[in-house]
Amino acid sequence: MILQDKDYLCHLSLPNYPSCTGCTIDVSWDLQIIFKKMSSKVCDFQQCSSIKEIVKEITSIIEEYQKTHAVYLRKDQTGAADYLGILTEIESIGWDKLESINSTFTELKLKMCDSADRQHILTIKLGGNTPEFIAEFPRPFLSQGISTLKDVYNLFSQEAEQYQEFWQAMDELDSGCWILEPETPFLSDTYRKIAVTQNVSLKIDVEPKNPRSFPTITWFGSETGVFDFREKAIDRLEVWESNSPIHTNLERLLEINLPRKEDCQVSAETYQSTCCICYQERLEGQVPSCTCDNPQCGQSFHIFCLYEWLRSLIQSTRKQGNKVFGTCPYCEQPISCKPPDSN
Ligand SMILES: [Zn+2]
Ligand SMILES: [Zn+2]
Repeated sequence: MILQDKDYLCHLSLPNYPSCTGCTIDVSWDLQIIFKKMSSKVCDFQQCSSIKEIVKEITSIIEEYQKTHAVYLRKDQTGAADYLGILTEIESIGWDKLESINSTFTELKLKMCDSADRQHILTIKLGGNTPEFIAEFPRPFLSQGISTLKDVYNLFSQEAEQYQEFWQAMDELDSGCWILEPETPFLSDTYRKIAVTQNVSLKIDVEPKNPRSFPTITWFGSETGVFDFREKAIDRLEVWESNSPIHTNLERLLEINLPRKEDCQVSAETYQSTCCICYQERLEGQVPSCTCDNPQCGQSFHIFCLYEWLRSLIQSTRKQGNKVFGTCPYCEQPISCKPPDSN
């Protein structure tokens, strides 16, 4: 039988036909699930007087189920969304939660405000075979096995509350030091690239479930500039206090005061390194992350620019593993670089 564009398979066996006594019914797995969920509505089919009545019973159970479950999964024959079903679902969540909906009803955005007054958007895409849910969370938002929009929305609201500590830690970090990347952080971004000195920066990856614990640190800058900081970060690990803000811990760990963007307005140029190949500060949002090791030079380059530059110098370039070696475009001393996507 086909109901609401869904095909259900039933196998009836009637040993005493035309009487229904002793009849047995085998159904497809999706129908088994429906019968289980609607068990209070499932009658004893042996009491039915005819096949027609059995089919009518099964049909009414499925229809009842479809009315209350997973209405947003339904589509009509043309593949368009089930407008009425979606509207009913939005109604149950509350119209004030609707941020936007497109004209074909295949994408809707629901909004929610968490306990710290942060605004969150849940994007729901209904165009494909299964609905897609996208939330700006530091970990993927999973909503498998949930059948109504309201339940998905409730789970989304609950999960947002679980990341409060993470977002607070990131906010403190953003206001406590000079963030080089991301230029405009999203609520889902778990990393920050931070200015340390004129030629050194670091990238930290923060664990969303334990945001104030010791983060993963990656260093950027010339080997001479980075060396002392890297050693300190290893030697002084025990000064990290998991109840202090991350930037406070970084300052304690490295025994420095981290520069702040507003403090550096006058000398911003000396901090803001420009790539010596493309003469830009940002390339696809990234600041230069390679620095020439020659202390007299110390010029900065985007990894992409330097890699392409070294590869273009066919005579003087050699490769080892995936690393390319050549000379600095500025001082002509040896310099090396990994492919841009290997970091
Ligand atoms: Zn560049
Ligand atoms: Zn150089």
